[in-house]
Amino acid sequence: MPGFVREVIIISDFAARSKALLADIMIKYPLMGIKYDIAVIGAGPAGLMAALSAAQAGAKVVLLEKNDQLGRKLLLTGKGRCNLTQAEEDPVVFSEAFGRHGKFLLTALTTFGVKETVDFFNSAGVATKIERGQRVFPESDKAEDVLRALTGRIKALKVTVKTRSSIKKIIAKGRAIKQLTTAGTEIKADKYIIATGGLAYPATGSSGDAYAWLEELGHKIERLRPTLVPIKLKEKWCAELAGLGLRNVRLSVYQDNKKKSERFGEALFTHDGLSGPIVLDLSQEIGELFDKRPVELRLDLKPSLDHAKFDARLRRDFQKNLNKSFKNSLDDLLPASLIPVMIRLSGIDPEKKVNSVTKEERTKLLHLFKDLVLHVSGIHGFEQAIATAGGVSLKQIDPRTMHSKLIDNLYFAGEIIDLNGPTGGYNLQLCWSTGYLAGKSAAEE
Ligand SMILES: Cc1cc2nc3c(=O)[nH]c(=O)nc-3n(C[C@H](O)[C@H](O)[C@H](O)COP(=O)(O)OP(=O)(O)OC[C@H]3O[C@@H](n4cnc5c(N)ncnc54)[C@H](O)[C@@H]3O)c2cc1C
Repeated sequence: MPGFVREVIIISDFAARSKALLADIMIKYPLMGIKYDIAVIGAGPAGLMAALSAAQAGAKVVLLEKNDQLGRKLLLTGKGRCNLTQAEEDPVVFSEAFGRHGKFLLTALTTFGVKETVDFFNSAGVATKIERGQRVFPESDKAEDVLRALTGRIKALKVTVKTRSSIKKIIAKGRAIKQLTTAGTEIKADKYIIATGGLAYPATGSSGDAYAWLEELGHKIERLRPTLVPIKLKEKWCAELAGLGLRNVRLSVYQDNKKKSERFGEALFTHDGLSGPIVLDLSQEIGELFDKRPVELRLDLKPSLDHAKFDARLRRDFQKNLNKSFKNSLDDLLPASLIPVMIRLSGIDPEKKVNSVTKEERTKLLHLFKDLVLHVSGIHGFEQAIATAGGVSLKQIDPRTMHSKLIDNLYFAGEIIDLNGPTGGYNLQLCWSTGYLAGKSAAEE
């Protein structure tokens, strides 16, 4: 064969093989050129943990986040200190804090519970400490240390991280998701984990994008409500006390003169009502009751003393201050900023000498200390909520794997699920546990 003919055959053979190779690549790795084992949508605590656990189990993972940074809300948790969990290692006891559906979390908590979470962060260089109410914080008091531990591990596991990747659409066929669409690209994976959070604090990126996609896929979204939110009160004098924290108080919720609930602990006055742990924990119930009829709160400022004992204490204090004016007799009983308000509410002349305060007046004062009545005028919305009540129906998620029961290659993690706990580290633990289980199941199933 003449030399130039052989050259032409070799070149055309090479071209044909290159074309075939390219076609093969296009089939295997369409559009973006890469097909992942698992795509995780949302890089909050749940998505970060899901990506980490899937990669740890050997999967090729892409983590997609619409913000330009990971874990924006995580950085705000615990007022920047991150109450990362609750020191309650018994999964059953822990799950009870999530109410009657808490049992859903048992597999997640036994797979990656409080102990595993604390061990994980400790081994990633985040020493932890336990504070009042069994709240676990990083010893450094820095949420960014918690985030750094997660992102460091994700990097070490070679997870592909794509920030500024807002997923706009999920394309599915039958019982399977085929691809995700961002503004400019399409992403394909064998399996998908949705960890886009809820609607609380939307400024952090949690704007509930996934609910519409999921409804299209047939998932039921249980009614969405803000929870762990401050309460608004009709009492205008609250504004004078904004920022005043109260410790060891009892707050009771009443409707139609019947006690519905109560909590003991810390509360905080705000410019238009009340906040603080016990108020936040009661807020969901208050909101639901308020939807139906008016709600009254009763604040007991001295819950360790019953009415008789507190009356005796008042008399003792008055006895000590007999010649003082009433306005100067309450220093041992109340924080300074609360005194003028209580004096006004009591209707007792502030200049009156204590020795001329009548029994009736003292009884009225006693009631203000023990049953200060406050009228709810509403609860704040998602923009101030710590969490979202409602979400993807638990009936459509397998609690042993976090696998959707409707879509074969879909898993869930975090706040998107219809579960929410009280303050104290419960909600982040929900993210660590469901995130870990979703990632592991998606990688191993
Ligand atoms: C102020 C504040 C303080 C809190 N403090 C505590 C605390 O101390 N302890 C505690 O246990 N809990 C706390 N919480 C609750 C806790 O932060 C949440 O439970 C937790 O962040 C939920 O995690 P998540 O990963 O499910 O969702 P998120 O943290 O909401 O993360 C979801 C991520 O998905 C991204 N995303 C959304 N849509 C898309 C899309 N279309 N495409 C790509 N990405 C998308 C979002 O940008 C976001 O980064 C606090 C909450 C707030 C608001």
